[in-house]
Amino acid sequence: MTSALVFSDVYVNYGSISALKGVSFEVPDGSIVTLIGANGAGKSTTLKAIMGLVNVRSGLITFYGSPITNMKTHLIVRNGLALCPEGRRIFLNLTVSENLKIGGYIIKEKETQEAILEEIFSLFPRMKERLNQIAGTLSGGEQQMLAISRAMMQNPKLLLLDEPSLGLAPNLVVEIFEKIEYLNKLGKTILLVEQNAYHALRLAHYSYVLEQGRIVLAGTGQELLDNPQVKSAYLGG
Ligand code: ATP
Repeated sequence: MTSALVFSDVYVNYGSISALKGVSFEVPDGSIVTLIGANGAGKSTTLKAIMGLVNVRSGLITFYGSPITNMKTHLIVRNGLALCPEGRRIFLNLTVSENLKIGGYIIKEKETQEAILEEIFSLFPRMKERLNQIAGTLSGGEQQMLAISRAMMQNPKLLLLDEPSLGLAPNLVVEIFEKIEYLNKLGKTILLVEQNAYHALRLAHYSYVLEQGRIVLAGTGQELLDNPQVKSAYLGG
């Protein structure tokens, strides 16, 4: 199977704090891979390392076989990766439409932009209805949908999602995970990091558990759901 992303023996430090201590994992083309772990385990740092947002001290990151380690973020985006960051980071005082335009700056051809927009509207019909609404007045769930839509505007082959369920009511959590599954069916490869282990594992083709900057377990979503260690530490026993 072709690997979209290979993350190999990566170390990241913040000053004297070691956030990633030799982390290795793979994301096969066309799959959903999830990374679960507690607060501070290094999940966001892993995504930032992929996007060139933190410095990788040692290790190698490749995307479809080409090295992207410590490349400039805009070049990484051009290669076909997009990050939907934790906390959404949408522009609250701009409209939905303006937020999407900013996300799509990299795609120059109008037809491609329109095709991507149609794909987004098929996924999130509410975005189409709310194009002229100020983003800050959207509900929490709608803001998360906008954040994912904005990342999709970059037409990525691999979409990185940082805790998309954070702060959402339980019914919206279910909806967001259904949408992520649908996005994968549309052909996007997905790397998802989540504290919400149950939903992340149910969705995952393959999953890794990160603890204090190290991968401690790996398996299919179902294998990890059945794993006693995972059950007691992440699934409430
Ligand atoms: P959370 O689920 O709480 O977002 P996480 O698993 O995403 O946690 P990271 O944000 O990757 O964890 O943080 C990993 C470690 O690196 C933590 O100990 C954190 O305090 C530290 N860290 C993260 N960002 C910085 C920074 N900018 N400066 C210093 N330390 C940092």
